[in-house]
Amino acid sequence: MSPNQFQQAVLTWFDQHGRKDFPWQQDINPYRVWVSEIMLQQTQVTAVIPYFQRFMDSFPTLEDLASAPLDRVLAHWSGLGYYARARNLHKCAQQVTEEHGGEFPRDVEELSALPGIGRSTAGAIASISMGINAPILDGNVKRVLSRFRAVEGWPGQTRVANALWQLAEQYTPEARCNDYTQAMMDLGATVCTRSRPRCDACPLANHCTALAQGNPQDYPGKKPKKEKPVRTTTMLLIEHDGALYLEQRPPSGIWGGLWCPVQLEEDDGGEASAHEWLAIRDLQATELATLPAMRHTFTHFHLDISPVWIQLAARPPRVAEPSGDWYKLRQLNRPRAAQELGLPAPIVKLVHQLEAFRAPLLTTQDQTGT
Ligand code: SF4
Repeated sequence: MSPNQFQQAVLTWFDQHGRKDFPWQQDINPYRVWVSEIMLQQTQVTAVIPYFQRFMDSFPTLEDLASAPLDRVLAHWSGLGYYARARNLHKCAQQVTEEHGGEFPRDVEELSALPGIGRSTAGAIASISMGINAPILDGNVKRVLSRFRAVEGWPGQTRVANALWQLAEQYTPEARCNDYTQAMMDLGATVCTRSRPRCDACPLANHCTALAQGNPQDYPGKKPKKEKPVRTTTMLLIEHDGALYLEQRPPSGIWGGLWCPVQLEEDDGGEASAHEWLAIRDLQATELATLPAMRHTFTHFHLDISPVWIQLAARPPRVAEPSGDWYKLRQLNRPRAAQELGLPAPIVKLVHQLEAFRAPLLTTQDQTGT
């Protein structure tokens, strides 16, 4: 399909099915198009309509916006979210007033240099309100083009973005570029939708590569997931006479200020490390056993915990750090122990696990009188 055929198909479809009644499609000028484009970033069309109308009632011109106090502009944005957009809008209005005599520049690069205006928004303002044949590449256009030409990869990667911009440039027509821009946005929003594209209603269907492959949903490619690193640690559940020894974590870092068992940092030695730990302190254990390993996932890493239960022969005057203390297991197993004593959730789980593990052993010890 040549660029010319592509444009014709899209424009013919637009004439029949395009959306033409949005408030920003009436009395078109760069100011109204700019405000609507900024509002439409990250926000659904239906949510934008009343905001746009109120905004235009209060700030009908660029000068009105530039001279308004920021608080008043922010109040008109209240509920739309992403408030940086409103602050940039205000800043941009003042910059256009001061540096461009109150007129938006008729050049995509100059437009892109203004606060809050990226290359695609600049393209939309230039094409829709000035008739300049500037391409756009918003989320809708990325979806249509990446499916139509089966462009592999995540558009956040420069290589993929460059390939899509090249296609966007290639297909944007000289004539009717305003309608074409609106048409591509509409096609993405109403036909080539994210989860269920209506390919049977699409003017590009006969030449769409992703449709021919049978996998439009695979485009555009997803952001590659970063594998979380895995850290390992041995936790010593040091127990004597039904009480568990816990230490308070330093105030900053993971589980800051909470109470945890002795933790051998970055260690996966399990029982061997536990024996070593006892030997250094000249402590004797009557029981020493490995409990099932547990994984706890933080935002940036997984922590694989190897819990080792140590039942001490006698309670030493001091186990390790001065911040340690003994807690009755009964107390630790109470329903609100985590909140009352300051225990991280995985440690509560470990305490329950320990109780389940040692109960049968203690029963045997009671029966044999040991
Ligand atoms: S044929 Fe389907 S996948 Fe291809 S551009 Fe049209 S709606 Fe999107």
